Amino acid sequence: MKNKYYYECVDCGNKIETTEVVYLCPICEKKQDKNLPPKGVLKVLFNYSDLKTKTFKSLEKKHFIDLLPINSAKSLGFLRVGNTPMYKISKLENQKLDFSLFIKDDSQNPTFSFKDRASILVSAFAKENKIKTISAASTGNAGSSLAGICASQNQKAIIFVPATAPKAKLTQIVMYGATIIPVMGTYDDAFDLCVEFSKKFGWYNRNTAYNPLTIEGKKIVSFEIFSQLKQILPDRIFVPVGDGVIISGVYKGFEDLLKCGFISKIPIIIAVQAEGSQNLIKNINSKSFKYTPSKTIADSISVDIPRNFNMAVQFMKKYKGESIIVSDKEIINASTLLSKNTGIFAEPAAATAFAGMLKYKEMNLIQKDSKNLVLLTGSGLKDLNSVQSEITIPEPIDPKAKNLEQLIKNRLS
Ligand SMILES: *Cc1c(COP(=O)(O)O)cnc(C)c1O
Repeated sequence: MKNKYYYECVDCGNKIETTEVVYLCPICEKKQDKNLPPKGVLKVLFNYSDLKTKTFKSLEKKHFIDLLPINSAKSLGFLRVGNTPMYKISKLENQKLDFSLFIKDDSQNPTFSFKDRASILVSAFAKENKIKTISAASTGNAGSSLAGICASQNQKAIIFVPATAPKAKLTQIVMYGATIIPVMGTYDDAFDLCVEFSKKFGWYNRNTAYNPLTIEGKKIVSFEIFSQLKQILPDRIFVPVGDGVIISGVYKGFEDLLKCGFISKIPIIIAVQAEGSQNLIKNINSKSFKYTPSKTIADSISVDIPRNFNMAVQFMKKYKGESIIVSDKEIINASTLLSKNTGIFAEPAAATAFAGMLKYKEMNLIQKDSKNLVLLTGSGLKDLNSVQSEITIPEPIDPKAKNLEQLIKNRLS
């Protein structure tokens, strides 16, 4: 192998060795059916036996570069992407937990979502290959992420989004100076348009899963988890799932660590989906993929045909992953509980993972003293609308009112 890495097709096993831009496996790409998940998503693989013999003292940031398909950490620019905080929560609703609960707060990324992990690697690869323009289709977060990352890296971003995306996400895209193309249609329409026009105009496409580097960028979270827990693995990780790229990234990170000999097993990963968009979980064991049109308040995980279905399911089967469905009501309740108990306000898609953990807890599926981690993937400020029906902001008080003391007393009760 002359390069540091190569690609392998998750469907046919075809190996591709190149440092040029590649998207899907050229053999499987010809067999697409628009009602089925895409075939030919590529996995980036390394020469693990070489890496094993290297003496890594720790898995600090500077070492991650050995497990990334880029040449230099300098290409990752100046924004702090990843290295997000991990908190240990010992109490919920004033009750002491009899297991360890960790929260990895990825809303603390530059554009306030987990998507920055993928955008930064795609952007770094573009930089090293002298590509100036990067495109993406997005339900909102991937687009706002790519727009922000490109702004920091002096690159041009072109973003296709459904016109109905939450306003904060649309605003971010425009503020970061990207070219925004709102589409009168669904995310799937935006995705296809982005692929078509990227080919036509020669833009580098960051579409999730379609670009294999999106999975590689997301895997870094697992290296961080391992290092933040002082090289002890959690027993369980709750991950919100839409297209299945984050969950594949989490698995891929641990699989890399396994292949390098740093760990000897992979944690149980729980895919959490919304009741109104459960197309990945519902099809895990089905012979032929069938989807139901999605409807959920968790817009970032509202997906009809998961773009990384094949890889995600392969990982889940190989490493005995679990899954759980939560309703929109459970998502909102979880979001409220999380905010009140921790000061962390998550967007609905992120709160979905927390809702999954709460449901496991209610069902007594979390063993005493086990270590559990919830991946919070985005900030609540990105989608204020979804919680408006759940809250009331009271009428203003008149500071000159005679009964002001009484008015304030009433609010306290
Ligand atoms: C994109 C996204 C997800 C889901 O990731 P997939 O790779 O689509 O499964 C979850 N939460 C947030 C906040 C996201 O933006």
